[in-house]
Amino acid sequence: MGDFDATALALPGIRQLQPYQAGKPIEELERELGITNIVKLASNENPLGVSPMVQQALTEKITSLARYPDANGFYLKTALAKKYQVQAKQITLGNGSNDVLELLARTYVSAQNEVVFSQHAFVVYPLITKAIGATPVAIPAVDYGHDLTAMLAAINERTRMIFIANPNNPTGTFIASDVLHEFLAAVPQHVLVVLDEAYYEYVSDLQRAPSIQWIEQFPNLVITRTFSKAYGLAGLRAGYAVSHPQVADLMNRIRQPFNMNELALTAAMAALQDDDFLQRSVAINREGMAQLVAFCKLQGLNYIPSHGNFLTIEVGDNAAELYNQLLHKGVIVRPVAGYELPRHLRVSIGLQVENQAFIDAMVAITNGQ
Ligand SMILES: *Cc1c(COP(=O)(O)O)cnc(C)c1O
Repeated sequence: MGDFDATALALPGIRQLQPYQAGKPIEELERELGITNIVKLASNENPLGVSPMVQQALTEKITSLARYPDANGFYLKTALAKKYQVQAKQITLGNGSNDVLELLARTYVSAQNEVVFSQHAFVVYPLITKAIGATPVAIPAVDYGHDLTAMLAAINERTRMIFIANPNNPTGTFIASDVLHEFLAAVPQHVLVVLDEAYYEYVSDLQRAPSIQWIEQFPNLVITRTFSKAYGLAGLRAGYAVSHPQVADLMNRIRQPFNMNELALTAAMAALQDDDFLQRSVAINREGMAQLVAFCKLQGLNYIPSHGNFLTIEVGDNAAELYNQLLHKGVIVRPVAGYELPRHLRVSIGLQVENQAFIDAMVAITNGQ
């Protein structure tokens, strides 16, 4: 008993990890403070909830859950392939796109490799990298966004993977299509570029990169997308990668056979059909973003212009305290000190009334109430 040291036995890469800090669940705050009517603007979830078409499809599926799901996700891959004009064998499904990000790293990155990403980038990138025991190379951001020139300069023979979130979370910064294309053309082929487009659907048609089409020109490019954000399925876990078929084939070898469950497969299929829901989700985000930006301007608060479904606001040195004060008023936002943004809070775009609840709470706190 006394000789057992769980930490010493664990892999060195795992020992130094901090667990992922998720947004505070509504139920937890209810329990802790005994308040109701809580507004959660902390995890970039879709404020419209679940599409009625998805709800219908899920209801019909409930009775067949005794069976294993289709391990190859044939119908969903076929639908995605059709939508993006690629081959089904270029698609890898995941238990959320986080699953796919991890599969990519586990397929390609060893403890001898380096993985490049930006300062203020999605925390999952350093997490996966360190878990493998590989060396994370975080490139200082410029205006909160990616410094692609410095990222290119950081590449050496040991570099195996670059993660880029576009738009980035938690900053909402965005890399223009032509700039990104130029970058990809300069990256050597021994480096996989993982372009994480979790917020792709929120980017305007005019600004969107034809990233999936680029895979033909850049076989080392992998695109990841998710059903968690604009499609409103965060609770089910459904994401995917589009890549060169050989990359997909290799990832498929280590993938858990049923990593996307039957309900997630069903919901994702139905979500793809409901274009009206998607359009409404994007529209409500645009309106909510304008609402929060107007508030920031009125209050003289700096914010990072965002292309996602959230706004990261510079609230000052008392960000941690303000986060707690907001909690006591029933508004959950996201502290981002762990992203080297100790003066900011990230606020997900909600329904008009939810955004207003955040604004009212902020005003009340400012007025000492
Ligand atoms: C939300 C988010 C994801 C999506 O994660 P899922 O596992 O698909 O829920 C991926 N990347 C970034 C940058 C995100 O913010």
